[in-house]
Amino acid sequence: MVDLYSVLGALKDLYRGRYLRPDVYVISLIPGDGIGPEVTSATLEVIKRVVDVYGVRVDVRFVEAGDQALSRYGQALPQSSIDVIKNSHTCLKAPVGETSADVIVRLRLMFDLFANIRPAKSYPNTQALRSDIDLVVVRENTEDLYKGLEFYINVNTAIALRVITYEASKRVAEVAFKIASGRRKKVTAVHKSNVLRHTCGLFAKACRDVAKNYPEVTYEEQYVDACAANLVRKPQNFDVIVTTNMFGDILSDEAAQVAGSLGLAPSCNLGYEYAIFEPIHGAAFDIAGKGIANPISMILSVALMFEWLGIKYGDDSCIRAAEAINNAVYRVLSEGRVLTPDLGGSAKTYELAEAIASKIL
Ligand code: ATP
Repeated sequence: MVDLYSVLGALKDLYRGRYLRPDVYVISLIPGDGIGPEVTSATLEVIKRVVDVYGVRVDVRFVEAGDQALSRYGQALPQSSIDVIKNSHTCLKAPVGETSADVIVRLRLMFDLFANIRPAKSYPNTQALRSDIDLVVVRENTEDLYKGLEFYINVNTAIALRVITYEASKRVAEVAFKIASGRRKKVTAVHKSNVLRHTCGLFAKACRDVAKNYPEVTYEEQYVDACAANLVRKPQNFDVIVTTNMFGDILSDEAAQVAGSLGLAPSCNLGYEYAIFEPIHGAAFDIAGKGIANPISMILSVALMFEWLGIKYGDDSCIRAAEAINNAVYRVLSEGRVLTPDLGGSAKTYELAEAIASKIL
């Protein structure tokens, strides 16, 4: 029994007792672009298995969003898709291609999904740099340069506005400290306040203020360039990293690769009311259609999703389903017989998913 991604457990008091448990969980599902549809159908095998074994009742509703939706409807995120998502308990999203910003960035802002939680953990028989990596990147998800406030001021000069607010920094820091409280009790705030004095300075101040409320959690700060190096040099030293939106995007990809493969890394876009779960990687067009993408990032996103549903609605069967998925992934990787090419094997996407589904008992 392993307890791999119970990172969300420490967030219970965000939701405690406020929500009535539904009979059926409506899950909106975006199959996405590139490798998205392949990893989605593989992941559905795992969801079916969990439903059979743990009796969690789900109603999966497919939602069109992304490059294909753009070419079909002229919009990457049509209103009809937004309506389905709004009427679901949660959303599971595969990677979207060139229109990614028009889909996930919009959804993050629309649902105020302010914290992007990205665990990176080394598993056996992967390409992990070390066997003892176990960290979580908590990335601010609503502001920074990713607000997309870019302008040309003349034909040869473009500028972008970096928006950092105290409130947004504080609430994401709160999430990071809560998560750390349930783990190894260490938070590393990552910024570049020696250069970006105002924006990163404000972010760092918010983190320091929150740190005062968590005396049991060790607090440190690193500049983003040092952190990038330390993630390779001694990744085992990190527990929870909290950082701004763009730094978090980059560092979490690095952390995932150091821990084995982008194809292993799930994420949760967390809000006070809603959450969206997705692999951290993109549509990987270079391997799309070959049936060799690693589905584990999406499968572990489902584990996070069930954990969140369990926490939000106080539903133990969802928590058990999440644990079962995490354990099944761990067992299949430990055996090392069914591995996709990114992990050094030759298995197909569906073979890895089937192997994982068969271990859900
Ligand atoms: P984005 O900016 O949308 O995150 P990206 O340009 O960073 O996209 P990805 O699509 O994330 O690129 O892919 C980077 C590389 O990682 C791909 O070329 C692919 O080889 C590999 N990769 C990503 N996801 C997977 C996966 N699930 N299985 C195997 N390899 C993957």
